[in-house]
Amino acid sequence: MSELRKDPVTGRWVIISTERGRRPTDFGVQENKAKGGFCPFCPGNEDKTPPEILAFRPEGSPRNGPGWHLRVVPNKFPALRVEGELNREGVGLYDKMSGIGAHEVIIETPNHPETLATIPGQRFEDMLWAYRERMIDLRKDIRLRYAMIFKNHGEAAGATLEHSHSQLIALPIVPHLVVEEMTGAKDYYRYKERCIYCDIVRQEIQQGERVVLENADFIAITPFASFSPFESWILPKRHNSFFEESYIHEIKSLALIFAETLKRLAKALNSPPYNFTLHTTPFNEKNLEYYHWHFEIIPKLTKYAGFEWGSGFFINPTPPEEAANFLRELSP
Ligand SMILES: [Zn+2]
Ligand SMILES: [Zn+2]
Ligand SMILES: [Zn+2]
Repeated sequence: MSELRKDPVTGRWVIISTERGRRPTDFGVQENKAKGGFCPFCPGNEDKTPPEILAFRPEGSPRNGPGWHLRVVPNKFPALRVEGELNREGVGLYDKMSGIGAHEVIIETPNHPETLATIPGQRFEDMLWAYRERMIDLRKDIRLRYAMIFKNHGEAAGATLEHSHSQLIALPIVPHLVVEEMTGAKDYYRYKERCIYCDIVRQEIQQGERVVLENADFIAITPFASFSPFESWILPKRHNSFFEESYIHEIKSLALIFAETLKRLAKALNSPPYNFTLHTTPFNEKNLEYYHWHFEIIPKLTKYAGFEWGSGFFINPTPPEEAANFLRELSP
């Protein structure tokens, strides 16, 4: 079983994954993975993944067979496992706990060559419904504190399989970056009695220079202090701390703006590898007046080296105002 360990200085947790048991020689120069070849996510190969947790398929279409539009399955090589006890333990000054959690894969389309920039609008929306449904289900497990939804698109962004999919890792702790955001947002709230994200939405709409897209319920912006070129955030206009408590019409309008943002990034940057993540409130919190869910999209355009790792300080060669302007002016 894998293990969670806490850095005693920074408070950051890491997952020590014993499952994959890599030896030094396994880390050699990565060969390019063969394109094409066998794909466990394609229809007809359902028996090559663990049995499905959730699937959207027409009525009468049998479970774990073809015919689906979207499938959610457990990761075959999970970073964390659902079974077992959450043993919190101190070893001298160090804290650790067993690697309890969930690691799921959301297969967004049955159609192998499609990407999120090319799939039909309804499929994109289905993906968001699947995220919401899985969050609502996992939050019932009192051992779990957080579900991180993320996507790796393209090999350089960490995707090991070509077939379009996103992932969900549910954790017994709240990730460091989310804690950092929540602390900052809480400090701002204490001082101003306003949600900082609501204020960002208002100010960005007013200024306009970093707005990429806007509809009735959302804005897509390139954030003021983007650490990476073309970094883009999607924020709901309505204050809401939990993504999974979005309204039906909001999911529909999120699908539209999110898909259009990815299409424009694909067009502007020649289908770059990218990651996106969902930042939302931990399961064991109530509705918070100071924290506001959002998606962050990071195209993988630069490499991080010693300076960035050592300082946590990023050098971004593209001002976000220019990135927004460029994306805004692309025709849909
Ligand atoms: Zn496939
Ligand atoms: Zn807010
Ligand atoms: Zn965030």
